[in-house]
Amino acid sequence: DIGWVEVICGPMFSGKTEELIRRIRRASFAKQRVQVFKPKIDDRYDANAIVSHNQERVEGIPVSDLKEMRQKLDPHVEVVGIDEIQFFDQGVVDFCDELANKGCRVIVAGLDLDYLGEPFGPLPRLICQAEYVSKLLAICVRCGNPAHHSYRLSTDPQQVLVGSTDQYEAICRRCFKVGQD
Ligand code: ADP
Ligand code: MG
Ligand code: ZN
Repeated sequence: DIGWVEVICGPMFSGKTEELIRRIRRASFAKQRVQVFKPKIDDRYDANAIVSHNQERVEGIPVSDLKEMRQKLDPHVEVVGIDEIQFFDQGVVDFCDELANKGCRVIVAGLDLDYLGEPFGPLPRLICQAEYVSKLLAICVRCGNPAHHSYRLSTDPQQVLVGSTDQYEAICRRCFKVGQD
């Protein structure tokens, strides 16, 4: 058996989690053995579920790092979902490869750009190594154009700052550029 890797990327509010949930649910309906993971630092809505901004949810196992994800992996799993993949280290790229090579369908969702507009963690390599890549866009809250940036409202300079509409806005290229000038 050989599997494959699917990446769902884009800015905040673009529907990545919604789309991951849709794919996971369809696999569950097909009676496939499914496991979903998420980084523990994302406890925004529920500690044991992945939840989209419009409140769709599926069960998700919180893990602190890749090591814990390996430990909690069901050896008979057929479909592995990982949300907020940008919060894992580069080792997650090989992990996804290994899973696909041993027959799993791997579906990962995450931010491709950080709030400064720079590639986020393992996403560039994941996008290159995946068979399927879906880039989703949000709607710019300032002008209504398609948005591919997650703009941080606070001035906190750390790359990882977990939040929602209180902390971030989806904005388009033009509105992002206005903010940079
Ligand atoms: P992501 O995982 O990419 O952050 P979610 O799947 O959690 O996105 O949430 C997507 C939902 O967010 C949309 O269906 C919509 O209800 C809501 N939403 C809030 N702000 C926006 C926006 N600016 N553009 C598009 N959708 C938005
Ligand atoms: Mg999400
Ligand atoms: Zn705009």
